[in-house]
Amino acid sequence: MGSKEYMERAEQAVLHTYNRFPVVLDRGEGVYLEDVEGKKYLDFGAGIAVFALGYGNQEYNDALKHQIDQVIHTSNLYYHAPLAEAAEKLVEKSGMDKVFFTNSGTEAIEGAIKAARKYAFLRDGKADHEIIAMNHSFHGRSIGALSVTGNPHYQEAFQPLMGGVKFADFNDLDSVKAQVTDKTCAMILETVQGEGGIYPADPEFLQGVKEICEEKDILLILDEIQCGMGRTGSWFAWQQYGVEPDIMTCAKALGCGIPVGAFVLNEKTAKASLVPGDHGTTYGGNPLACAAVSKVFDLFESMQIVEHVQQVSPYLEKKLDELVDKYDFLTARRGKGLMQGVVVTGRPVGQIVSKALENGLIVLNAGADVLRFVPPLVITESDVDEMIRRLEASF
Ligand SMILES: *Cc1c(COP(=O)(O)O)cnc(C)c1O
Repeated sequence: MGSKEYMERAEQAVLHTYNRFPVVLDRGEGVYLEDVEGKKYLDFGAGIAVFALGYGNQEYNDALKHQIDQVIHTSNLYYHAPLAEAAEKLVEKSGMDKVFFTNSGTEAIEGAIKAARKYAFLRDGKADHEIIAMNHSFHGRSIGALSVTGNPHYQEAFQPLMGGVKFADFNDLDSVKAQVTDKTCAMILETVQGEGGIYPADPEFLQGVKEICEEKDILLILDEIQCGMGRTGSWFAWQQYGVEPDIMTCAKALGCGIPVGAFVLNEKTAKASLVPGDHGTTYGGNPLACAAVSKVFDLFESMQIVEHVQQVSPYLEKKLDELVDKYDFLTARRGKGLMQGVVVTGRPVGQIVSKALENGLIVLNAGADVLRFVPPLVITESDVDEMIRRLEASF
C-alpha cells in the first residue's frame, strides 16, 4: 500500500487534532527514519526529544522483548522487579528521594501539582493555594497541566481552567516576586523552555527563584520533561545550575519511546505530601515501562551518553552559529547541549520544516519563529554536517 492510501485512511478514522506532514514513517535505524516508500530522513527531532538512543538499539529492543515475554502489566497493587530497578536508578541520577511513575509528561505535571498542593495543605490546613507559572511555558494538555501552561491560545477554549495560577515572565525575577503571596505553594518552570522557543533559564534567575522558594517555604517544581535525561549535557539540566528542585518532572527520553513519565520528590516533599489514597494510576510504571526506563539508564551509562552530549554539542552550536552568520533571516541561536533553537525572522518556520522534510531532514519548530534541533543523543559530528547540508538546501 502506498503512502497516500495510509494517509487517507488515517484521516478518515483519526480525530483531526494534528496537521500531520505527508509522510508515512515505517522504520528506523540509528539516526535515520525510513518511510513506506523507502525514503530516508535524518532525524533531528527524535520524536520530539524522545528517542535519545537512536533507533534499533539491539540491547534496548531485547530488554523490551524479554519483558514482554515475562509480564507486561500487573497494576500498581503489587511489586515487580523492574519497578524497583527503574525507581532506584532515577533516584540515584537525580539525587532526589522518591519517584512516582506516570504514562506521560502531562500526568507527571498533574502529580507534581497535587503533591505541591498537598504539601501546603498539610502545612497550614488551607486549600486555597496558588501556583506561579511562566509565560510561554509548556507543561502539557490535560486541564491541570494546561492551567500552568502560559499560552493563552492553548487555553482559551477550555476555560474555566484550574484556579489559583498566576503567571510571571521567565528570566525576570521581579515579575516572579510580584506574583508571590502568602498563598503561593509552588513555582513551576522548565529549566530550559522547550515549546516556547528554547529559552534556557539564566543562572541568576533560577538561583533567585530558589531563594524566594526557600525563604517562603514555596516548592520549586522543575519540568525536565524535554530538557532532562542527558539532553543538555548533564543528567538533568538543573544539575548545571546548583539549584535543586523540590519536585522534578520527567518523560520524553525517560523511556526512549515507551510511554512513561515520572515525578520525583526530594525528601522534604516526599515526607509531607502524597500518601496512600491520594494518587494512583492503572498503567503508570508497569513492568514494560519500567523495564524500558531501567534499560535506558543502563545504556546511557554504558554508552556514556551524557559525556557524548558534552563532546558533540559544541560542534552543533558552532555549525548553527555559522548558519546564523551566513543567512540574514536567521537572527539568533539559543539552547543548551543537544537542545538548540535558531530564530527565524521574516520567513515562516513551517515552510523551512516542510522543505527540509522533502530534502530528507526532520527538524521541528518551537513556537512560531524558532527552528528546533533535538536530535537523538547519539549523533556524531558527521551527522551534524549532513544535517547542515540538508538544511541549507531547504532555505
Ligand atoms: C512534552 C512536554 C510536556 C508534556 O508531555 P506529554 O508526554 O506530551 O504529555 C510537558 N512539559 C514539557 C516541558 C514538555 O516538553
